[in-house]
Amino acid sequence: MIKRFILLSVLFVVTFSCKKEKVEEVVPEEIIEEVEQPKIIEEFGYVLNDYLVIKDTIKNGETFGEILDRHHIGHTTIFNIAAAARDTFDIRKLRAGKPYTILAKMDTTEQAQVFIYEKSKIDFLIVDFTDSIQTKYVHKKVKTVTKSASGIIESSLSEAIQKQKLNYIIALEMADIYAWTIDFIHLEKGDNFKLIYEERFINDTVSVGIGNIKAVYFEHKGTPLYAFNYVTDSTKNINDYYDENAKTLRRKFLKSPIKFGRISSRYNLNRRIKYYGFRIRAHKGTDFAAAIGTPILATASGTVIASKYAGGNGNYVKIKHNATYSTQYLHMQKRKVKKGDYVKQGQVIGTIGMTGNTAGPHVCYRFWKNGRQVDPLREKLPSAAPIKESIKDEFLVYIKPLKDSLDQIPTMKMEKIVSE
Ligand SMILES: [Zn+2]
Repeated sequence: MIKRFILLSVLFVVTFSCKKEKVEEVVPEEIIEEVEQPKIIEEFGYVLNDYLVIKDTIKNGETFGEILDRHHIGHTTIFNIAAAARDTFDIRKLRAGKPYTILAKMDTTEQAQVFIYEKSKIDFLIVDFTDSIQTKYVHKKVKTVTKSASGIIESSLSEAIQKQKLNYIIALEMADIYAWTIDFIHLEKGDNFKLIYEERFINDTVSVGIGNIKAVYFEHKGTPLYAFNYVTDSTKNINDYYDENAKTLRRKFLKSPIKFGRISSRYNLNRRIKYYGFRIRAHKGTDFAAAIGTPILATASGTVIASKYAGGNGNYVKIKHNATYSTQYLHMQKRKVKKGDYVKQGQVIGTIGMTGNTAGPHVCYRFWKNGRQVDPLREKLPSAAPIKESIKDEFLVYIKPLKDSLDQIPTMKMEKIVSE
């Protein structure tokens, strides 16, 4: 504004002087003063403008008394405050690294009046000793906002999430939602996604976390895969993800890694066998006996994390299905996959043999859950049950507006370099 005025006055002088050369009338520069009203800043229920505000974090080993002492509170008062606060909060439990705020007098004493300890982004402890000593907990109001986002894969999902400045939790959640249907290690450049999710905020701006991921669209190798979160049992709060046709996104393991054959030895932690002089030799696998050369199948889709020959195991293959489950297949005659391969459920990964420590042709099938071997015949494995017929219509009605919203989010496209 001031600049423009100066420019105008210069122009005025110039034009004026052209017409009547002798008159040199300079228009005095007008000073436009912008009177700024001090903005009232309120936080924790106090008008911060009325105080000297000191924000800091609790240092290692620092005590409540030391902090108040530094802000000109006498020892007797500190003792009284600690005693009065006891019922609400044990002042010895201040944790290093947590932020706190001191509201002090604006006068020369700079004496503390209020101590505010940020237990979390949502919970605050307020100790007010302006007059009498008052302590209370204050919870900031958390607002849940439904948001949408989209992204495109250039190298990985986490990179695409980061590029959109989204919370990394979203990448983890998406990997979990599609754990059985998308191989996230082998995403293709140009794969893209859209999602509708909830994010929780305090003060309308500070994010305190991701809520429910309500709906996702993931286009992998040109194939769209929808996922909708749906509560199938509200009393037990059971919810899961289903596609637009109410089909589950989970997959069941095959009961056996061979099509025909028999279980020759079950998982048994107290097994004693002749081979080892009848000493206890835990058997952490399930043996399926079949003729040499019989194809061995991957019991679920996943990525081959090992394919090699190793001592007692002989030729073996290990497949990682998702963050929770891996399976391993021992004593193969031939291995048909290599490390890094993505295999589909039912795919032939090798053939029955008797390499390593084994008395006869069989595959020792080992099942890993969170890094520990378990008995797949006893384990409660993910169910791939479809949504109940009785709630299917309800589900389809529920997802319709969500799907419409998803479809309306523009799909991200790779920027193509057009040749000249
Ligand atoms: Zn075995």
